[in-house]
Amino acid sequence: MIVLKQKPLEWILDAVKNYDSVLIVGCNGCSGIYQVGGEKQAEAMKLLLEMASEIKLKKNLEVETCTVLRQCDRDLVASSLRPLIRRMKGHKAILSMACGVGVQTISEIFPEIPVIPGCDTLFIGMRTKEFGEFYEFCRACGDCILFETGGICPVTRCAKGLLNGPCGGMREGKCEVDPERDCAWVLIYERLKAQGRLDLFIKFRPPRDHRITIGPRVWRGE
Ligand code: SF4
Ligand code: SF4
Repeated sequence: MIVLKQKPLEWILDAVKNYDSVLIVGCNGCSGIYQVGGEKQAEAMKLLLEMASEIKLKKNLEVETCTVLRQCDRDLVASSLRPLIRRMKGHKAILSMACGVGVQTISEIFPEIPVIPGCDTLFIGMRTKEFGEFYEFCRACGDCILFETGGICPVTRCAKGLLNGPCGGMREGKCEVDPERDCAWVLIYERLKAQGRLDLFIKFRPPRDHRITIGPRVWRGE
């Protein structure tokens, strides 16, 4: 999933201060699943913004909310938001509670309206066993080698992104860059050993072809 965190309320309040009405758009995809910017958080943000604008900005900000299933889906966003945007009065803005893709999807569909990102998009990751902790697991490199590395991504989880590890800095299974963390290549070794596939550990992997990730990337479903 895409891992996000909400921007501070003060930042959001400053961003909306010049508008008369704001439509808060939640996303029930990644953002909603882990309660960063789903329906409940959009409703909570509405209350906070109404109170904060009254107390700090000394004005009545008109705030509406709408939550879509996925803000990265152009059709869903267009059909859900169009009627609401028509109803908004005065100088208007949209506050998106989704990732950067959601913000840009709304901006593409409604280019005349400023879209404020209510969240910072951090990375693609997984929740760990620790409450509220997420770990980066994928950098969308476009050439997945997880089958060869026991399902552990060296591009992301090795501090140097090495495809042929470990490096000489590994000490007692820990990474030299952050000794609190396990060396990704030791984890890969252990996993491949358990699977009886250690031949893959010594396989040479050529450098990644970075041309695959020259942005902006496009996928046409070929
Ligand atoms: S190799 Fe790593 S970064 Fe690349 S697609 Fe697979 S999990 Fe993502
Ligand atoms: S110690 Fe392991 S995880 Fe850290 S940079 Fe070297 S190979 Fe990568």
